[in-house]
Amino acid sequence: MSAAGALVAPHALLPGGWSRNVLLAWNDAGVLTRVAADAAALAGTAVAGGPVVPGMPNLHSHAFQRAFAGLTEYRAEQQDSFWSWRTLMYRFAARLAPQQMEAIASWLYAEMLEGGYTSVCEFQYVHHQPDGRPYADDATLSLAMLRAAQRTGIGLTLLPVLYQASGFGGTPPGDGQRRFIRSTDSMLRLLAALKPACDAQNARLGLAPHSLRAVPPDSLRDALAGLDAIDATAPIHIHIAEQTKEVDDCLAWSGQRPVAWLLDHAPVDSRWCLVHATHMDATEYRDGATSGAVAGLCPSTEANLGDGIFDFGAWHRRGGAWGVGSDSHVCVNAAEELLLLEYGQRLATRQRNIGARDGQPQVATALTLAAVAGGAQASGRAIGGLAVGQQADFVVLDHQHVALQGLGAPDMLAAHVFASHRGSAIDAVWVAGRQRVAAGRHPDRAALISAFATARADLLKD
Ligand SMILES: [Zn+2]
Repeated sequence: MSAAGALVAPHALLPGGWSRNVLLAWNDAGVLTRVAADAAALAGTAVAGGPVVPGMPNLHSHAFQRAFAGLTEYRAEQQDSFWSWRTLMYRFAARLAPQQMEAIASWLYAEMLEGGYTSVCEFQYVHHQPDGRPYADDATLSLAMLRAAQRTGIGLTLLPVLYQASGFGGTPPGDGQRRFIRSTDSMLRLLAALKPACDAQNARLGLAPHSLRAVPPDSLRDALAGLDAIDATAPIHIHIAEQTKEVDDCLAWSGQRPVAWLLDHAPVDSRWCLVHATHMDATEYRDGATSGAVAGLCPSTEANLGDGIFDFGAWHRRGGAWGVGSDSHVCVNAAEELLLLEYGQRLATRQRNIGARDGQPQVATALTLAAVAGGAQASGRAIGGLAVGQQADFVVLDHQHVALQGLGAPDMLAAHVFASHRGSAIDAVWVAGRQRVAAGRHPDRAALISAFATARADLLKD
């Protein structure tokens, strides 16, 4: 079936800002071939009901964590932290079966589409059977992610995770980590095995060294060299400086903070996504932003885990690229991540409208454009907004939603981000020129929810 098509948008958010009567046309591969503002009406071309905004790339996801989102919101220790949350997460990860992983990811990806995300970077770190032995097909759990993306229609950047140690200096992994552990050679074999399947699905394959605490320097160097041999432009994502304890441990190990160490010891450039990068000093903000790397911000998860607040102004002033991810999936809504990002900055600085830029005073518009550009860069895919050569990934806002009715297009996007009260003001979502959400709903949602609920109930059984 041909995917080529066209749509006229009365209002569309192009990379340079809002335009009227925009003709969007795409080819059979779902790539935009024409984006023309002030186009005359074309007979027979569909007209979007509401404003059209670019689809948001979700730059950080651990799909299985969706199944216990909301289940760790009680006090278990005198001072609960990321580390006590992680203990619970490990218990859950220890029980997952491949079909449960696929059911959880499939509902999550449909939920992402309904929440305005049109692609996802999956940071996939559960690789092995519960006892730590590889599956007969070593790629089993990564292939489950590819199937979940294909079934729901979301775009995918698959990032198998290299995980080798439990702490800086190569501390041996613990029992809770045995499903994650791979030698560097085994990771490179996995990447080689996954490459054809990713190519066949128009998914991008990259690599995620988990963190500096989990990957010793020699392994990091060898894995990057091996990745380059497979694809010298593949994306590279790493968790960095999410926790102050991680910063302290890195200082004790190397005398440097994590971001400073990484910038000194790895070829960090525009292929890299520094996930969280929450705790940096002034020099790290400067050098990190000018390295070309994307800061991967996950405001809802960072708030949920009590990580701390990224200094957006320090990054932004240096022209640093950034995007958003739903990470642990306590929130699966692109607009809400932008809202939480902006609100965290307002609370920290006691100022308003932090995300506005010179030439773009509308905060929701400026944040959306920047997060789409940074998210596309981190994804390593041509999903950077409504421009010729990019994929036709877009969201049609619901102009009949009570928060949006009667407003101009920029105010509709502002209302969607700041005033839609956690409800969705999304009407339709298109990925690569194919409609995946209509009237705010993914067509398979009932079946996907049922399979998700069954998988979660089984995982929660004693
Ligand atoms: Zn993460």
